[in-house]
Amino acid sequence: MADYDLIVIGEGISGLTCAGHAARSGLRVATFESTLFGGLVINVNELDGYAEGGHKSGTDLASAVMQSNSEAGVKSIQEGVSAVRAAGGGFEVASDSGRYQARSVVLASGARLKKLGVPGEAEFEGRGVSSCADCDGPMYQNEDVVVVGGGDSALQEALVLAHYCRNVKLFHRGDAFRARPHLGEQARANPKITVQWKTTVEAILGGKMVEKVRARNAGGSEEIPCAGVFAYIGLEPSAAFAPADIARDARGHLVTNKDCETPVAGIWAIGAVRAGYSGLLRDAVPEARRVAEAIRDRLD
Ligand code: NAP
Repeated sequence: MADYDLIVIGEGISGLTCAGHAARSGLRVATFESTLFGGLVINVNELDGYAEGGHKSGTDLASAVMQSNSEAGVKSIQEGVSAVRAAGGGFEVASDSGRYQARSVVLASGARLKKLGVPGEAEFEGRGVSSCADCDGPMYQNEDVVVVGGGDSALQEALVLAHYCRNVKLFHRGDAFRARPHLGEQARANPKITVQWKTTVEAILGGKMVEKVRARNAGGSEEIPCAGVFAYIGLEPSAAFAPADIARDARGHLVTNKDCETPVAGIWAIGAVRAGYSGLLRDAVPEARRVAEAIRDRLD
């Protein structure tokens, strides 16, 4: 007999929701996570546009779902997954330290923030280069920081940083935000946020800590003093371990049918790792539940 009816890879909100829903319907379920549970939402201090459960922050939401999963009997395994392959009429999931058999698999490994890829970014990681405004914002009390990007994440995080910092310089390579309009309006109306359009970061410079960035705009290159650099320039899916016969889109997301099943029958993909995901919790949660129900019906 397989170890589990369902193995879910990734303990972000999508994976946790799917796992809990499946377990409550009677399936034997395990989740795998290589880092901290909660996924990207753990960095969000004020959940915006997601009211279910009344949770204020991403951490509150993730902790509540994790707790409810534990009560429903979901086994949480703190290991990274290196491969998933068909075996014995089901699937074998290879982790850092073992192999586990499952009748079905949900890939919910999410996405990570893309890097700028400029000199100084790796060198100053944790010394002025950060990706969590909520966690690190208080360290930049009354300092100037640079935020890069023009999507929901950049604007949301710039607004968080504006609570702490003297000035938030928001560099966007374009001349219009991609973010939802209300975030753009809030950023423009915030006196602590200065938007610099058509501006990119060429290098992050400093001594022990970040001291400035070299930025490029229409006028050329200039050095701009700042104590922190936060880049939110989009996400890249975490799908390296997924079977090669699942197609990827141009940005590396896993391609599924409309029901989130991959071409490998019995393997589903949900949330930010999936091509076509909206990026919104209010879509991710019902999608995860629908997949759990489909798996339960399939295994009946
Ligand atoms: P995104 O929507 O992909 O936006 C990335 C931004 O970074 C774009 O403005 C893009 O510029 C810019 N960019 C990309 N590559 C760049 C580079 N190399 N250098 C400089 N700028 C670069 O990413 P996101 O804001 O992280 O959002 C990802 C998803 O999560 C979206 O679906 C979003 O709606 C969702 N999200 C939702 C919430 C929420 O519900 N509260 C919060 C955060 C994120 P261009 O515009 O010129 O392409």
